[in-house]
Amino acid sequence: MTISLTDIRSISNENLCSILEENNFPSYRSKQIKNWSRKIDIVEFNQMSNLPKRLVNFLNDNFCLNKSEILYKQRSSDDTIKYAIKLYDGKVVESVLIPSNGRVTACVSSQVGCSLDCNFCATSLLKNMRNLHYYEIFDQIMLLNDEAKCYLNSTITNIVFMGMGEPLLNYKNVLKSIDYITSDFGLGISFKKITVSTSGISKTIKRMADDDVKFNLAVSLHSAIEETRNIVMPFTKSFPLKKLVESLDYWYKKTKRKITFEYLVWKGINDDFKHIDSLIEICKKVPSKVNLIEYNSTDNSDFKSADIEWINNYINVLKENKIAVSLRRSRGKDIQAACGQLANKY
Ligand code: SAH
Repeated sequence: MTISLTDIRSISNENLCSILEENNFPSYRSKQIKNWSRKIDIVEFNQMSNLPKRLVNFLNDNFCLNKSEILYKQRSSDDTIKYAIKLYDGKVVESVLIPSNGRVTACVSSQVGCSLDCNFCATSLLKNMRNLHYYEIFDQIMLLNDEAKCYLNSTITNIVFMGMGEPLLNYKNVLKSIDYITSDFGLGISFKKITVSTSGISKTIKRMADDDVKFNLAVSLHSAIEETRNIVMPFTKSFPLKKLVESLDYWYKKTKRKITFEYLVWKGINDDFKHIDSLIEICKKVPSKVNLIEYNSTDNSDFKSADIEWINNYINVLKENKIAVSLRRSRGKDIQAACGQLANKY
């Protein structure tokens, strides 16, 4: 029978100190082990060069280091690069590096697949889903940062949790990964450069406000009319708009930071003035800006992007109502790296 060992990174510093002492090793070794294990090129205990042989043997017998690795990469004609990253158990997630105007944005995954059922998103088709450990999200970023230095001549400047999965359904790991990413041993980047995107898990939005998180929040709204939202994102039947608005109001009161609403406009679904008016009503209740996203077609849906005339109607009416609005063009469409196209097809 094979016994699977625990990743040393899932053990707290305190617990590791006790384990070491119980086995006649000095507790200060814990810090050394933790420091080594965060480095992306350290994949086994034998590489931890200042540890005595007896300790390395002890670690090999009792723990493991489940490091992730790049399995495959693909570069788009617009220089976006998509990565397939293999996790220790053979599962794969995708992440994307998006260069633009001197910035390099990393789009990361928080889950393998996604448990939500947004009808317009290719990730929702993936089976075998599980949450990523905090260190798997951290590894993703550190691997991508090395790639950015090598291929884009820059380190990562911005991070969006808009890859596979729903970050708020893996909240603890996302939070801890962000602590690591922003620390000196990570990228040392500001919380302001990080955006977590959610499809609207109201209870966790309130919890984040209570936890006083410092990163930005984006909410995938796509419709401010309950019936339409329930059709395009069926799971929202358990997450009513009223509760979502309440939680966003709570978020704003606590953090004083505006929310970004992500919004897709589809032909025959929300390309009408009733939907525009409802969106404005919500934006007036919650201090926010609107990011209209270009729709990317996927294999699993018949959704069609609305005519440009309707995108312009949205932009004009939002502006007339003094609501900030931007239009996000898709990047990496030719390699299926754009929003909603991550589906492990490599
Ligand atoms: N679960 C999170 C984050 C992942 S999706 C969320 O829902 O926010 C990241 C963004 O891509 C979301 O705004 C999502 O609605 C959008 N998206 C999904 N499928 C898309 C598609 N086919 N075209 C364009 N955007 C899409």
